[in-house]
Parts: sequence; C-alpha cells; structure tokens
Amino acid sequence: MGNVNRKEAAEIARKLLAWYHEHKRDLPWRRTGDPYQIWVSEVMLQQTRVETVIPYWTRFIQRFPTIEALAAAPEEEVLKFWEGLGYYSRARNLQTAVREVQERYGGRVPDTLAEISSLSGVGPYTAGAVLSIAYNVPLPAVDGNVFRVLSRIFLIEEDVSKPAARKKFESLAEFLIPPGEASDFNQSLMEFGATICIPKHPRCLSCPLQTLCKAYAEGMQEDLPIKAKKKPPRAIDILTGIVRNGDGNRDGERVLIVRRPQEGLLAGLWEFPSFEATPGKSPAEDLQHSLRQQFAMTIQVEQHFANMQHTFSHLHWNLQAYSCRLSGTVETTVTAADNWRWVPVGQLGDFPMSAVHQKLAKLLQGLV
Ligand code: SF4
Repeated sequence: MGNVNRKEAAEIARKLLAWYHEHKRDLPWRRTGDPYQIWVSEVMLQQTRVETVIPYWTRFIQRFPTIEALAAAPEEEVLKFWEGLGYYSRARNLQTAVREVQERYGGRVPDTLAEISSLSGVGPYTAGAVLSIAYNVPLPAVDGNVFRVLSRIFLIEEDVSKPAARKKFESLAEFLIPPGEASDFNQSLMEFGATICIPKHPRCLSCPLQTLCKAYAEGMQEDLPIKAKKKPPRAIDILTGIVRNGDGNRDGERVLIVRRPQEGLLAGLWEFPSFEATPGKSPAEDLQHSLRQQFAMTIQVEQHFANMQHTFSHLHWNLQAYSCRLSGTVETTVTAADNWRWVPVGQLGDFPMSAVHQKLAKLLQGLV
C-alpha cells in the first residue's frame, strides 16, 4: 500500500483543495476557530450524519459555549442536550475530558498529540481532527470517509476493520497533507467522502479526482473499501413496565423511572423499568417478579401498552411495554432513591432518556 510519490500526492491534494474551496458546505462549526467548539463537533459527528448534528451542536454550544461552562454543568443536563444523538458515552467522556483540560491545561485545549491523546475518550481520530482543524497540525484524521476515499483512489484491497490497516491508512493520509494546509486538507478529504465519494454509487462522473483514481480505472469503486462483515446484532426480548401510582387522575399520577448504571450501554440515562424477558414466563408474571425483586414493589399488569424495536451496534431490542399499577400505597412525592423516582407524567421530559424510552414517554403523555 501507499505506492504514491510526492508528485502524485501533491496533485491529489491540489485538486481536492481546489474542489473543497469551491464546494464546501457552510457548516456552523466551520465558522469558528475555537478548538473546544471544533472538538464538540468532531465528537458529535462520529457515527452521526452532519444534518443530524447541526441542531444538536448549535443548541449544545449555546448552552455550553466554553470549556468552563461544560466543565461546570451537571452531567444530567449534558446528557439531556445529547438526548437522541446516541452513543452517550461520547458525551460523558467529553465532559470528563473538558474537566481535565480545565484542571491540567488551564482551560486551553492542548495542541500537542501527546497531551490531547491523554484526555478521556480522545482516540487517534479525534486527536488528529482537532489538532489539524483547529491548530493546523499536520496529523491525519482517518474516519470511515477517509478509509473509503483512500482505498478507492489508491485501490487498496485491505480489510479496513483490521487495526494494522488503520496504521497504514494513517501514514498514507499523513503523507498526502500538503505543507501548511492540514486544516483544510483534512476537512476536504472528509467533505469529499461525505458528498462525492459516497458509500454507495460514488459520484465518479463529477469527481475532480476521476483521472487519478485507480479504483475507477479498474471499475472497482463500488467494491471498496473491503470491510469484514460484522456479526449481526444479538436480539434480546425486553419487558418494560409503565408503572403508575396514583388515583387515575392525570394530575396526581406518577410513573416510575429508573436510572441505568453509570457504566455500560446508555449509562446514566433514565428509563421505565426494563428487564430481559425470561423464556417460558408470561410477560405479566415476569414483570411482577422482576419489579418485586428489584424494587420490592407489588404491581398489577393492566394491559399491553406498546411494542418498540431498537438496534444498537451489537444488540437489537424487541421491547414490549405494559401498563402497570402499583398495588397498595407508597409515598409518591419523594425521591425514592438515587436511581429510581416517581415522576409526574408531565415532567418525564426533564429526564435524559434513550430514544426508545423517550418515545414511550411521549406516548404516555399523549403527544404522539
Ligand atoms: S472517481 Fe469515483 S471512486 Fe474514485 S475518488 Fe472519485 S468518486 Fe471516488
């Protein structure tokens, strides 16, 4: 890989930069030179489309415009501003790293690879992206777009999911950076991958690199990059209790929500109590048993409420929710514990929840 000489590299860079200057999209984070704000955009853009990120980034930066503001914010509020973007560990890591920047670097995002890489959750991609875009440091930022573009231009038939391949693509991407142009060049590669050299049906006919592209010359552009098939996500059946406690009068009615553990999937988010279904048990019996075990609560299962599906990278949830009612009396006005609460239905929106549980909450509030 990487049989590219300096002249060829310079030609590719020149064409890409010319294309970028003419066609780049006007994205809000391109209007700032603030390394912190650029960092937030790069974290949000991982696994997420630009169109989705724009309103999130805008709201987030309005509320947390500086390192100081994000460092000082309650985690729950940060998660609330991230709600719906998914991959919530990104938000938690970002806040931890920002606090580290405040403590160790006096609130200035570090501009060396060693320092920025020492921050929580900052991997090679984020480090390269922030340093190159914000500080013009000549480092590569290889994400899925860049893997795809480079594997096509240079006809690289190596499995990009292998760690050894990453190193090689990084070296190649670094070699291509023209002197003094790291910021624009890295952005041009990303932009080109997002709008021209797209995953399916790349726009080769309007591509500025067509005459230099080895995959196009061989008619192999649709076959690259090579990526080993991931295992399909494991399906699990989940039972969820929408447990109400009150006299049926909407104003007085409260519903039970539970906070997920601080580690693992959807860490720290709130949800209606949910349990992996036990094969062979009826949903009602299963929910009653689980709620008794976990919350020492006796409930009646009233009726089926909704079915929901959600796919994560490694898991697929088949979720069945049931309306339940607490049997007997329980204090309804106080916080029950750190990790579970009785909340008025109208206030469910104040708690950060995953997409599936947000939908259940909206159904319950009669909003959808
Ligand atoms: S010619 Fe096609 S495959 Fe090659 S870089 Fe351009 S868009 Fe990508």
